[in-house]
Amino acid sequence: MTEEFEKLEPIRVPELDEILGKPFKVLDDGFIRVVDYMGSDQSVVQAARVSYGKGTKKLRQDRGLIRYLMRHKHTTPFEMCEIKFHIRIPMDAWRQWIRHRTANVNEYSTRYSIAIDSAQTTKPDEWRMQSKNNKQGSAGFFDTETGEKLTEEERRLQKLARETYQKRIDLGVAREQARKDLPLSTYTEAYWKIDLHNLLHFLRLRMEKNAQLEIRKYAEIIGHQIVSKWVPFTWEAFLDYEMNAQKFSAIELEVIKNLIADKIDDALQIADNAGWLKEKEGKLLKNLERMEMEEKLEMLGIKKPW
Ligand SMILES: Cc1cc2nc3c(=O)[nH]c(=O)nc-3n(C[C@H](O)[C@H](O)[C@H](O)COP(=O)(O)OP(=O)(O)OC[C@H]3O[C@@H](n4cnc5c(N)ncnc54)[C@H](O)[C@@H]3O)c2cc1C
Repeated sequence: MTEEFEKLEPIRVPELDEILGKPFKVLDDGFIRVVDYMGSDQSVVQAARVSYGKGTKKLRQDRGLIRYLMRHKHTTPFEMCEIKFHIRIPMDAWRQWIRHRTANVNEYSTRYSIAIDSAQTTKPDEWRMQSKNNKQGSAGFFDTETGEKLTEEERRLQKLARETYQKRIDLGVAREQARKDLPLSTYTEAYWKIDLHNLLHFLRLRMEKNAQLEIRKYAEIIGHQIVSKWVPFTWEAFLDYEMNAQKFSAIELEVIKNLIADKIDDALQIADNAGWLKEKEGKLLKNLERMEMEEKLEMLGIKKPW
């Protein structure tokens, strides 16, 4: 072989090494900790250089390249990094988590072992009310008196479920069957390994304000406390181009262009053609697209024209 290859050292990220194995507490008895990882921002850059030929070397250029990759959704270089977590999480949040199919998972088995003796509890001031606008969401909290009753009922229910489970186990009922009435609040544990590209996809969906609060708490720790230390350039680009960016449909852009040009009637016409302005008894009917557009207009400081 005549070609010369650079000498390679194992890639380590000191900021991540500092927190390796340390649990971050989540909810009342959950945690998340990094067990292992592979790669860094440098690995993303290194992989991209293979496709673009040798090029950027300086830190500033690496940042620019990562931002370019993120901006243009050139995603495979981000798949060169991997991270493995150990998670302890209530089963209802885990049920949402496990829908992300692009990870490798090994979960604690309650067929093989006794179920973890811990269920997520809710403090009296933590009971959320059903949102009226979003069928999947919550809005506001119950008063303390109601909250205290709900918490007391939760305690009784969890105690009964656990005692029933334990009674079955003591009688010799198979663990795989004894567990069937354990509540979804029961904690489970898992090892979860995923590449950086798919992890960012997970974070984009689960850090978002519409994601359920419980899973969002885990996602926020992964993002702000772990990924930000592991791959700071990628994290910065992700926040900029994905998490905190805003997408506009062609119709939305047309409405905005007309509003900026002070062509209010034209903007209204486009909105009407899009079916956003249907009325009943002089009142605008609920229309999700229009309502989401209203949020975007508010964010831009533009007054809605309807
Ligand atoms: C706010 C919110 C509400 C939700 N509500 C519901 C609900 O009511 N009911 C419900 O069932 N789910 C619900 N989900 C789950 C959601 O539909 C997804 O299953 C989940 O978010 C995982 O997303 P994903 O498939 O993109 O991720 P991953 O499984 O990690 O996949 C990542 C990407 O890989 C590709 N991919 C993976 N597997 C395949 C495949 N087999 N074929 C083609 N492409 C593939 C897709 O591009 C996918 O986006 C909800 C999720 C969120 C965030």
